[in-house]
Amino acid sequence: MGPDAAALRAGCSAEVEVDVCVVGGGPAGLTLALLMLRSGARVALVERSNTLERAYRGEILQPGGQQLLAALGVLDGARARGCHEHDGFRLEEHGRILIEGDYRRLPGPFNCLLSLPQRHLLAELLLRCRAHPAFVCLTGSKVNGLVEEAGVVRGVVCSGAGGEPGGRVVRAQCVVGADGRYSTVRRLAGIPYDRVDLFDQDVLWFKLTAGATRTVRILRAGGSPVLAYTSFPDRVQLGWTLPHRGYRKLASRGFEYVKDRIRASVPQYAEAVEEQIGGFKDLSLLDVFAGSARQWARDGLLLIGDSAHTHSPIGAQGINLAIQDAVAAHPVLCEGLRRRDLSARFLTPLVVRRQRETGKMTKLQLMQSRMMLSTGRLSGIVRPKAAMLVSRTPPYRSVLRRIAYGDRGVEVRHDLFRDTETAPA
Ligand SMILES: Cc1cc2nc3c(=O)[nH]c(=O)nc-3n(C[C@H](O)[C@H](O)[C@H](O)COP(=O)(O)OP(=O)(O)OC[C@H]3O[C@@H](n4cnc5c(N)ncnc54)[C@H](O)[C@@H]3O)c2cc1C
Repeated sequence: MGPDAAALRAGCSAEVEVDVCVVGGGPAGLTLALLMLRSGARVALVERSNTLERAYRGEILQPGGQQLLAALGVLDGARARGCHEHDGFRLEEHGRILIEGDYRRLPGPFNCLLSLPQRHLLAELLLRCRAHPAFVCLTGSKVNGLVEEAGVVRGVVCSGAGGEPGGRVVRAQCVVGADGRYSTVRRLAGIPYDRVDLFDQDVLWFKLTAGATRTVRILRAGGSPVLAYTSFPDRVQLGWTLPHRGYRKLASRGFEYVKDRIRASVPQYAEAVEEQIGGFKDLSLLDVFAGSARQWARDGLLLIGDSAHTHSPIGAQGINLAIQDAVAAHPVLCEGLRRRDLSARFLTPLVVRRQRETGKMTKLQLMQSRMMLSTGRLSGIVRPKAAMLVSRTPPYRSVLRRIAYGDRGVEVRHDLFRDTETAPA
């Protein structure tokens, strides 16, 4: 631990100096923090939340993300905290399977969709980070300013950690904005964000106590399509789709009306919905949009994860892409620290590569959304035929591999690790 990190931990300094300051302790930020710590960098993490118990977040993890987390040594620990394995996903219309993405046909050992609560993943990553003495963990601390010198980002200003009074300045060679879809770092850096309302549906999420299944299902029974999967420990997570930006109008018709519509969409869960959904408080709305920051790097600053690019929940790609961003950024930041060059120019090849990959994923999600969630008479007639045709062709198998793994060129660089850590005590 450098002297500044020690002083900060002891609470006797309002300023700390590290190599990398990561803002945001989600999947992107914590994965990057651990990778950089393992490579000998001094890392500060600034996370506004005091706990890992956040509002509902995505929890379906694709094989690509599982593989990277296993290579980093955290998957087993995260799984041991509790998860469910799913054999794949299915589009079902009136009980008939139209499309089946069978993950058991993919090469093992990560040939499943993992329903893993994000708090389990984040807790494991944080535990590993804390095992490194060069880790400065500022949870309960919110970034509200950037330190800039001659146009170069040199650090962040944040509120006192854990409710302590006073602000902090964290100086760093590189600030990484991993603070999610409504990124403060992005805004403070003056980087415009292009929101694209590509998708026709928003999602109302809720949980039920009901029978477990081993498949992530997209259920169509005449009403709005519904996403359903078993969530740890013993609930079913359901996502009822509704027209994009249509929630206010729908809600104005009253809770009983909304509940009736939900029940009609999932007759198999109608009784559980009636008994367990008591009011709007049990429903959580997700505004579904895609978006991208216009710049992902400035001198001394890199955006990763949702702060750089936001995705629809269809196809469960957000966590995968966030982890891949971190793994792809790791060798570049190590080299940048060695050269003392964290300029936008130096970071550009990384940004271009990740923009290409995330752009492809958005197109794929749009295709999945149209195929599985669209409503209307014509799509109702065309879908079963198109689905049968598509899911039996070799290109579909390659699409399935892309959904499951994303960019297979992204690999954890063990050769850059300086520690021999496997598991903390
Ligand atoms: C309802 C829902 C369901 C989803 N389902 C799935 C799914 O099943 N599978 C999937 O792969 N993806 C899913 N996603 C997307 C996925 O959750 C995100 O893509 C992923 O969490 C992005 O990771 P991240 O680390 O970039 O950002 P986040 O997970 O958003 O983390 C950002 C962190 O930054 C912190 N922060 C924000 N502002 C500040 C600040 N000013 N100072 C300090 N800290 C700050 C936040 O507290 C947060 O911890 C879903 C998303 C939602 C909302």
